[in-house]
Amino acid sequence: PVGAEPAYLSVLNPEQRRAVECIDGPLLVLAGAGTGKTRVLTTRLAHILSTGRAWPSQVLAVTFTNKAAREMRERVAGLMGRAAEGMWLGTFHAIGARMLRRHAEVVGLRSDFTILDTDDQLRLLKQLLQASNIDEKKFPPRAFAAVIGRWKDRGLAPAAVPAGDSGLADGRAVEIYRQYQDRLATLNACDFGDLLLHNLTIFQSQPEVLADYHRRFRYILVDEYQDTNVAQYLWLRLLAQANRNICCVGDDDQSIYGWRGAEVGNILRFESDFPGAEVVRLERNYRSTSHILAAASGVIANNEGRLGKTLWTEGEAGEKVAVRGVWDQDEEARAVGEEIEALQRDGRSLAQMAILVRAGSQTRAFEERFIQMGLRYRVIGGLRFYERQEIRDAMAYLRVIAQEDDDLALERILNVPKRGLGDASVQLLHQAARAKGTSLMKAARHLVETDELRPRVRTTIRGLIADFDRWRAMLDGLSHAEVVETVLDESGYTEMWQNDRSPDAPGRLENLKELVQAIDEFDSLTAFLEHVSLVMDNDQDDTNEMVNVMTLHAAKGLEFDTVFLPGWEDGLFPSQRALDESGVAGLEEERRLAYVGITRARQRCYIFFAANRRVYGQWQSNIPSRFVDELPEDHVARDAQKGVYGSRAAGINEELYGGFVYEAPWLDAERRAASRKGGGRAEGSGRGRPEMIEASAEQVRIDDGPAAYRVGSRVFHQKFGYGKVAGIDDNKLTIDFDKAGRKRVMDSFVQPA
Ligand code: ATP
Ligand code: MG
Repeated sequence: PVGAEPAYLSVLNPEQRRAVECIDGPLLVLAGAGTGKTRVLTTRLAHILSTGRAWPSQVLAVTFTNKAAREMRERVAGLMGRAAEGMWLGTFHAIGARMLRRHAEVVGLRSDFTILDTDDQLRLLKQLLQASNIDEKKFPPRAFAAVIGRWKDRGLAPAAVPAGDSGLADGRAVEIYRQYQDRLATLNACDFGDLLLHNLTIFQSQPEVLADYHRRFRYILVDEYQDTNVAQYLWLRLLAQANRNICCVGDDDQSIYGWRGAEVGNILRFESDFPGAEVVRLERNYRSTSHILAAASGVIANNEGRLGKTLWTEGEAGEKVAVRGVWDQDEEARAVGEEIEALQRDGRSLAQMAILVRAGSQTRAFEERFIQMGLRYRVIGGLRFYERQEIRDAMAYLRVIAQEDDDLALERILNVPKRGLGDASVQLLHQAARAKGTSLMKAARHLVETDELRPRVRTTIRGLIADFDRWRAMLDGLSHAEVVETVLDESGYTEMWQNDRSPDAPGRLENLKELVQAIDEFDSLTAFLEHVSLVMDNDQDDTNEMVNVMTLHAAKGLEFDTVFLPGWEDGLFPSQRALDESGVAGLEEERRLAYVGITRARQRCYIFFAANRRVYGQWQSNIPSRFVDELPEDHVARDAQKGVYGSRAAGINEELYGGFVYEAPWLDAERRAASRKGGGRAEGSGRGRPEMIEASAEQVRIDDGPAAYRVGSRVFHQKFGYGKVAGIDDNKLTIDFDKAGRKRVMDSFVQPA
């Protein structure tokens, strides 16, 4: 009877309803953005539970992010009027971990295994590389981590890696992979990739375990199916193969993780994997105005490899998508800021506005502008610019240059990049500093005048001190931006990331360039450093009233009333890497990203492109993204006045700014790194076995207070033994040791004998 039907069903359209009520058997919901896929999935979950088809513990629901899992949990509770406890609802990782804890012993782990973070993982790999005499400079641990991660994404345990797929270091990567897995087992640990990989091993080797899950999980639901990788796909297929009550929702046009191993093919294969599968298509978009929807559809229509779908909306036409060319990234940030203020004056909520960028380094200009304006913002799915590791490292160098007694800064970069100054050296510096009540740098200056340090460590530290003195002196002659560039080059810091083959290395290099750019905007290094400490102080509080800043990738599945899409320039978006690729795969993935971006908007969407971007203090002139041209004319409002910067077709850009070289290399760190000559900096230490050149900290004992020594005093030194003071120079003593001969030592490191 109609009257009895739950309210959550009656608000659905007929197709959505079919997807919710078609409970038994495999079901694929294949539909464009904003058509209610996630809503269908949530409602279906509530429906299964409230009609008593399954207990919460008998449903498995997979979301793409933890945030999405939380939202789904809340929405289900809202629909059902009570919290559903015990559901297996979470990301692939979260659910994989939960299962692995239950059967850890099968893969040689205990149920209390630890999940390594990236740092631990790299440290472990580093040890293995050293033991195998693999040159870390040529093949950094991160590169191995990336290769191993990709194998795991493909569901490949070491033994399963195909022979032709040998990875890095002349095929030794598979061997390292094997050793790495062995080490993890010894440590009772696993990495993120293992969470699913071990599950696969368990299911395949223990049929009764799998059968148990078949009995348990009556229903399986999966959101964002287009972005599953091979391991996730295999995992789902194994779990679903018995009762086949699996419902996946996805959109082939929103597959944006191909670069991380996702296979859009999984969605296309669904019907053959699960014969007899129902396929529901949703065509009505409930999210966006018709102009926004038409603009997005117009762009994605340029992709060839797609299933193709119709999308329509009964929503109002709304405002056209605003397209605006600006002079440079500062004007871009200013324009966005002004628009936000105008919307705010109209009573719109900041929480309903988002700035979606292609590259993480783009956030800085916006962050600075917002801070200046006093506009609250948060960076979702990432760190704020000045919190990022490479920025903090680079800033540490600058802080030591500005103020050599900044111990925290010095300690941070003492051995970054690696120069053979390990914990023991640092400890020794600390002891000396404490004993003298001075800073680490001052202590280092004294220590290198003595024999306290092993010769190689001494040479290294002496070199570092000289570097810092030289860089500081450069501030008199060069611009501070030039000095920063020099510092990053000469310290080997830039090179460290250039040699790093991990997927996040190019982004870090972009951020470093962006940092140089930022510094260039200040009068002095000190002014800049002060600015950053103020920026960092702008702590985020928990009010929700904040503008959202995030990458396009992080925005998947979300929606906002107003969306700003800056940086639509060839070379930035689409990225230079995608443009350089021979096939169209990369370009099509970028275009899907553009589609994801536009379709996040409910009411207003603004697209910006800048005629110029300063990179490393150099102006580069850019042409608008090809995606700008692909926007259907009827649905966009091109800024008439500013549009002069913007017609790619007319080549106006070149006419106007013909003097500038067209090149947008900031997304192309790899290429630059490749063309750059190799050749490491001679930094005192090899990458071999740093512990060999360490001063051993236990050998040093420090007196509570330095005693007064005279020439002729008998003293004891932990490292050199007994001896007689032969000379005194400030706080350094020359001592004739009985066994070690004449040495210079710190007075605080000896005691009266
Ligand atoms: P995406 O592809 O971006 O993940 P989606 O297909 O998952 O989008 P949802 O996020 O589920 O779409 O829905 C988009 C918006 O439309 C949401 O605000 C949702 O509440 C609303 N919506 C969906 N279906 C209906 C409906 N039948 N009636 C009213 N609003 C709806
Ligand atoms: Mg969704």
